[in-house]
Amino acid sequence: MLERQNLRITRQRRTILKELRKDYTHPSADQIYDKVRQTIPRISLGTVYRNLEVLCRLGEIQKLKLGRTKKRFDGNSDFHYHMRCLDCNRLDDAALAPLKSIEDEAGAVTDYKVLGHRLEFVGFCPQCSIQS
Ligand SMILES: [Zn+2]
Ligand SMILES: [Zn+2]
Repeated sequence: MLERQNLRITRQRRTILKELRKDYTHPSADQIYDKVRQTIPRISLGTVYRNLEVLCRLGEIQKLKLGRTKKRFDGNSDFHYHMRCLDCNRLDDAALAPLKSIEDEAGAVTDYKVLGHRLEFVGFCPQCSIQS
């Protein structure tokens, strides 16, 4: 039954997207898997991975590979910056307006047609700052 199978895929994908959209911690695939399993107990980690890849391709979510951390996922697909804790790898959104002028400047000094940029802030999160 292809139709039933398609329905199942749609339901899985929608559940994964819903979990990710309400999670602001930028979870890893394993963490998303743990959450989704509460709604769909029989889902496999492989299915979660595959759906995350599809959602990335569809532009619904973002995959973040920052520093040496595991791949993390972001339910917000709009361009935004992140702050990463060097101690516990916590990842937060940094509410800064995109720096467009930096792209013009980079283009001017390299003669490249600049399409975008990546910028990551690093430091210690509030908890880790207290402990150290
Ligand atoms: Zn920290
Ligand atoms: Zn984010």
